[in-house]
Amino acid sequence: MDTYEKIIGLAKRRGFLWNSFELYGGTAGFYDYGPLGATMKRRIEDIWRDIYVIGEGFYEIETPTIGIEPVFVASGHVHGFSDPMTVCSNCDSAFRADHLIKGIVEVPDTLSAPEIKQLIDEHGIKCPQCGGVGTFGEVFDFNLMFKTTIGPGTQRMGYLRPETAQGMFINFDRLFRFYREKLPFGVTQIGKAYRNEISPRQGVIRLREFTQAEAEIFINPRDKNHPKFSMVRNAVLRCYPASHQQNDSEGGGDSDAAGDDRAAGVIELTAGEAVDRAIVAHEFLAYHLVLTNHFLVRAGVDPARLRFRQHQPDEMAHYAVDCWDAEVLTDRFGWVEVVGIADRTDYDLSSHANHSQHDLSVVLEYDTPKQVERIVIKPDMSMIGPLYKDKAGKVLAALKNLKEEDLNGDEISIKVDGEEIRIARDVVGYETVIEEVRGEDVIPHVIEPSFGIDRIIYAVLEHSFAEEIVDKETRSVLRLPAEVAPVQVAVLPLLTREELIDPSIKIVDMLRRSGILVSYDDAGTIGRRYRRNDEIGTPFSVTIDYDTLDDDTVTIRDRDSMLQIRVQVRELAEKVHAMMRSGFDSP
Ligand code: AMP
Repeated sequence: MDTYEKIIGLAKRRGFLWNSFELYGGTAGFYDYGPLGATMKRRIEDIWRDIYVIGEGFYEIETPTIGIEPVFVASGHVHGFSDPMTVCSNCDSAFRADHLIKGIVEVPDTLSAPEIKQLIDEHGIKCPQCGGVGTFGEVFDFNLMFKTTIGPGTQRMGYLRPETAQGMFINFDRLFRFYREKLPFGVTQIGKAYRNEISPRQGVIRLREFTQAEAEIFINPRDKNHPKFSMVRNAVLRCYPASHQQNDSEGGGDSDAAGDDRAAGVIELTAGEAVDRAIVAHEFLAYHLVLTNHFLVRAGVDPARLRFRQHQPDEMAHYAVDCWDAEVLTDRFGWVEVVGIADRTDYDLSSHANHSQHDLSVVLEYDTPKQVERIVIKPDMSMIGPLYKDKAGKVLAALKNLKEEDLNGDEISIKVDGEEIRIARDVVGYETVIEEVRGEDVIPHVIEPSFGIDRIIYAVLEHSFAEEIVDKETRSVLRLPAEVAPVQVAVLPLLTREELIDPSIKIVDMLRRSGILVSYDDAGTIGRRYRRNDEIGTPFSVTIDYDTLDDDTVTIRDRDSMLQIRVQVRELAEKVHAMMRSGFDSP
C-alpha cells in the first residue's frame, strides 16, 4: 500500500471522504465529504476566511454556479478551455492525449492536437486500459465546461462555472462603487467549480466538481507596490524560479511531475530578496505568495513539502505578467499544484468591457490635479457648411479630433465614412488652452490567488499522517493542527460504568457549550479508543476515571506526545482552549 492508498483508506473508513454515488457503482471525479471531512473542510475554509476576508478586508460575495454563455465567451472559456483528448477504438476508454506521451517523450505544453497524435503513433503508445497499440483515434480539443440549458427548451445556453472568478469580474463596477471608488481593493468567493475532466484517474486530486477559494484584487496598474510589504519583507519563501527549471529534468506542475522533496533548483529567499532580485515581478505578487504560504502552513501543509514554482514563459497565459503555483509534494503524484497566484493584468476587465460594451475603466485621481495643454479646433463654418453640405456635421466631428501635429502642412487630411477629404489649412483655426485634469482613465489590473480546497485537504491529510510503533503495535496518527481537526476533544470514560458515564456526559456538554468540537466514545478498551482518536487527528483526549469521583479531576492526553496531565474539571474548558492555541502543556 502506498501513502495515497493508506490515506484514502483511512479517509473512507473514518468518514472523511467517500466516493460519490457509491450505491449506484460510483463515477470518477466526484467525492462526498463525510461527517469528519465536511467539518475539516469547513474549518480550513474558515482559516482562509480569517486570513483573506478578516485579515485583508476582502469581502466575500456569492454568485451563481451557472453562468450564461456571453460571460464565458468573454472569459475565453467557450473557445479556449479545453484539453486534448483521444479515445481507444478497442476499449472505448477516453484519455488526455498529452498525458499519454508525457514522461515518454520530452515535449512542450504547447503541442497541437495533430502533433500529439503523430507522437502517439511514432512511439507506439499502448492503451493504458486494454494494452492495444495503434488503437488511438484522432486527437481533438475537448471543452471542459459542463453545458446546460437555462429555462425550458434549448433557447439559452448555460455553463456550470469552471472557476468562481468570473462572478467577481462581472460585478466589478458595483464592487468599485461599494469600495468607495478607490484602488486597491479585494473581493473573495468560496464555492463550487466544475470541470468535465477527461479521465480523472487521480482520485481527489482531479475532480469534476471541486471547491475553489479565490481572491480578486484590483490594483492600480501604475503602482504594484504593496502598502503592507514591509510587514512580510523578511518572510522566507521556497521558490522554484522559471530559470531554474529549464535544466531540471524533474520539472513540475499540476500533478504530472514526479520528484523528490529536494528539487535542485528550489531556493529559499525572503520576499524582499525575491522582489529586489526581480525573481518575483513585484511586491503585490510577492505579498500574496507570503500570504498563501502562511495559509497553507497554518492549515497543516508541511513547509518542507511546499514550494512556489514560477510558470515558464510558454506555460503562462499570454496576458499574464508573472504567475506562481504553490505546489505540495505527495507520495504518489509528485508535486501537485494547489494554488495559482497570477498577475492577470487588465485582461479580464478589458475583455468583459469589450464584450458587454460597458466601460469598466476607472478614474485614478492624481494627488494634485495636473495642468495640461490642449488644442481646441475652430473651423470656419461659413466655409465648411456650403462646401460639404450634408456631410458638414461629420467633417466637423472629424476635425475636432485632430491633434496639433495634424495641422502642420498646407492641407489637412481627414476620413469621413471611409473617404479621404483634404481641406485647406487656413479654413481650420485652433487655439491652445490650459486645462486642469484631475486624474486619468485606467482599467485596473488583477492579482488573483486561486486555491483548490480539495487538493489542500488531501495534502493536509497526507502531510499530517504518520505511522509509529507504540507498545509493539503500529499507531496511525494524523497530526492535524487543532484549528483544523474535525474533533478537538474526545471524552472517554475509563470504563463503561454508569458512575463514570454520567460525569462524562456532563463534561461533554460543558465542553460543547464552550465551543469545542467534542466526540464521546465509550466502546472498547481505553487504548483502542486513544488509537481511534489518534487516527482521526483528535488533538486531546479527556479521560474520566474513579479519581474523578473523588477529587473532580480528569486526565488530558496529548495526541502527539501521548503524555498526560491531570486537571480540575472546572478548569478543563479553559485549559483545552489554551492548549489548542499554544500546544500541550507538558507535565
Ligand atoms: P486553475 O484555475 O486551473 O489555476 O485552478 C486553480 C486551482 O484549482 C488549482 O490550483 C487547483 O488547486 C484547483 N483545481 C483545478 N482543477 C482541479 C480539479 N480538476 N480538481 C481539483 N482541484 C482543481
